[in-house]
Parts: sequence; C-alpha cells; structure tokens
Amino acid sequence: MKKTKKTILISAGPTLEPIDPVRFISNRSSGKMGYALAVAARKHGHHVILVSGPTSLKTPKGCHFISVTTAKEMAKAMIKNFSKADVIFKVAAVADYAVKNPAKFKIKKNKKELNLTLVKNPDILKKLGKLRKKYQILVGFAAETHDVLKHAQKKLEEKNLDWIVVNDVKRKDIGFESDDNQVTLLSRDGKKIKLRKQSKLKIAGKILRQVQK
Ligand code: C5P
Repeated sequence: MKKTKKTILISAGPTLEPIDPVRFISNRSSGKMGYALAVAARKHGHHVILVSGPTSLKTPKGCHFISVTTAKEMAKAMIKNFSKADVIFKVAAVADYAVKNPAKFKIKKNKKELNLTLVKNPDILKKLGKLRKKYQILVGFAAETHDVLKHAQKKLEEKNLDWIVVNDVKRKDIGFESDDNQVTLLSRDGKKIKLRKQSKLKIAGKILRQVQK
C-alpha cells in the first residue's frame, strides 16, 4: 500500500436471522475483534467504515458506522461500500442459514415439535472475492475448533483472499467474548505469522501493520 491514509471497510459482530418478531438464530460473536480493528485503523489515521451486526459495544469514535441485523443486510452494506475500500476486513460471524419464512406474529409454544426450514445465506466474503480489484486487500477471519490451519488455508484459496486470520475457538481463555486473542495469520503467498496471546487491540494493530507491508 503506497498512500498512507486508506479506506478500511470492516464487518463485525454476528448477524441475526429472525424466526418470528421475538426470536432469532445467530452465531456467537461479541464483535470485539472487529471493533478493535476499527479503533486501531482510526489510530493509524485511516478512514473507517464499520458495518456491524448487533453487539453491546460502544461505537468506535470517528468511524462511518452502519448498523445491520441480517446477513442479507450485511451483504448489501458491504457490497455498496466495497469499491471505496482499499482494505477489507471481514471479521463478522455471519449466520450460515436464515429461516425461510419468518412468522409475522409470535409463534405460540403449544406444539411438541416445531420445524423450521433454513435456507443458506449468501457467502459475502466469497462474493467480494469475485468483485475485488487488484489494488484491494481482502482479509478474512476463521474461527475453527479442529484442523484449524487446514480449514483456514482452504478458505484463503476458495474466497480469493490475501490474508486469513485464524482463531482456535476451542481455547477457553481467548476468542469469542474475551478481551484477548491469539491468532495465526496466513497469506496468499505462503507466509505464516503466529501472534502470541495479547489484547485484541494489540492484535489488531499488528494485523494492520502486517497487511500494510
Ligand atoms: O463462516 P466462515 O468460517 O466461512 O467464515 C470465514 C470468513 O468468511 C469470515 O471472514 C466471515 O466473515 C466470512 N463469511 C462471510 N459470509 C458468510 C460466511 C462467512 O462473509 N456467509
């Protein structure tokens, strides 16, 4: 990256897929890693667009903040802002499936069994991987419980990414709601960088620096 001030587009948090007006399915995600990246990118003087699913976090200062709920809304916001971005961090834990026909009214609990039909959500990052321009840097995140690096390597290739940041979410002391994380960065050209356990803010700074090289 030559220009020092860049536009950084970040997706963060979970998406929520409604079952009825009061219930939903979702993924575990506090949004802390994505928000830490937004804070670190602002500290470096970059322009930040943060597209976030519902979290309990304070909106980072100085960001262009776009609040979304479902994966479809997140996809729309990411695609709309994609061409402005030099670097894209796709940190969000997007729900893989949405309920086919969410009920308009609250479903009564008078049945012994309730069947929901789920339909696959769009893979936003894969779509962005196809739309990307040469100058854009695309960074994905992977939360895995087993064969962590093998799965991440597959995603790096399938989604046409420059980097993937890998979390082992089996560990109780890091990831998800924690303020700390321990990640490994894999690059398209075969780099493997292991960052020791530290705060998500410090990890965010290191990821940014690495990607900017
Ligand atoms: O869910 P998965 O492990 O495939 O997530 C890997 C990466 O792909 C993450 O960066 C996530 O934000 C992104 N993703 C996405 N759209 C989906 C699923 C995942 O952009 N529907």
